[in-house]
Amino acid sequence: MNRDRYSRIDKLKLVGHETLSKLRDLSVAVIGLGGTGSLVTELLASNGVKHISIVDRDYVEESNLHRQIIFDEKDVGKRKVDAAYSRLQAMNSSVEVKKVFGTLDSGNAIDLFSEVDIVIDCTDNITSRLIINDACVKLQKPWIFSSALETYGQFKAIIPGKSSCFACFNDSVPEDFPTCAQVGVLSSVPSVISGFVFSTVVRLIAGDENGDYLYHLESWPPAIDRILIRRNPGCRSCSKGDFKYLSSKYSGLDFHPLA
Ligand SMILES: [Zn+2]
Repeated sequence: MNRDRYSRIDKLKLVGHETLSKLRDLSVAVIGLGGTGSLVTELLASNGVKHISIVDRDYVEESNLHRQIIFDEKDVGKRKVDAAYSRLQAMNSSVEVKKVFGTLDSGNAIDLFSEVDIVIDCTDNITSRLIINDACVKLQKPWIFSSALETYGQFKAIIPGKSSCFACFNDSVPEDFPTCAQVGVLSSVPSVISGFVFSTVVRLIAGDENGDYLYHLESWPPAIDRILIRRNPGCRSCSKGDFKYLSSKYSGLDFHPLA
C-alpha cells in the first residue's frame, strides 16, 4: 500500500491508525446507487474500504447525471452496478467490489448482509428500509438509514441491541410516499447526506456513534436538526422479534418495493 495515500485521514486525531486499519478491513453493502448511494460508494472506495457490495436494479438514465456524479454520459443505458464497478475499480484497484444486479428483497437480504459488517440504505422507499431493518435487526448488524428528497435529507445509524431501530419510529408504508422522480431533488442534498453517511461509517467503527439521533438536514435555507429517538419498548421488530418484512410477501419476481 502506498502509505501516503491515506495519510490525511490517518493524521486525524479522531481517526488514527487503529480506526483507519479497521476501515481498510471493512466490508460494506450499499443498497441503491442513486444520488446518495453512488457518492457513498466513491467515498468508501477512495478511503480504501476492503470490500463494497453494490446492489441496484436500474440502468443509468440521462436524468440521473445531475446528481449521480459517479456516472457520466457514456454510461447512459448501462446497468448502474456495471458503470459503478468500472468507476470504483479505476478509483482504487485495491478495493474488492461485488456487483448485485437486482432488487433487494426479503429473499436475498439475509444472505447479502451476512457477509458484510455494515449495511448502508440509499434506497428511495420505506418498504426497502423495513426489509433492511428487519434483516439487520435479525442479524444484529449495524446499518445506516439515509434519504434525500427535494431540498432536504435525513440519516441515522441503527445499532441493533443498542439504539432504536427504523421500525421504532416508522413501521408503516404510506401509499403516497414521494420519490425524486416525482418531486425532484437538489443535487447538493445527496452530496451532503453521502458525506455525513461516510462520517457515520467511520464513527461507527471508531466506537463514537451510538445511534441515538436522527439528523434532518434542510438546504433551503440551511439547517440541521438532531432528533433523539429512543427505543420503542413495543417495537414489532427490535422488541418483539416479529420480522414481517422478511416474509415471502416482500420477495420474488412480482415484488416491487414501490408498488
Ligand atoms: Zn425497533
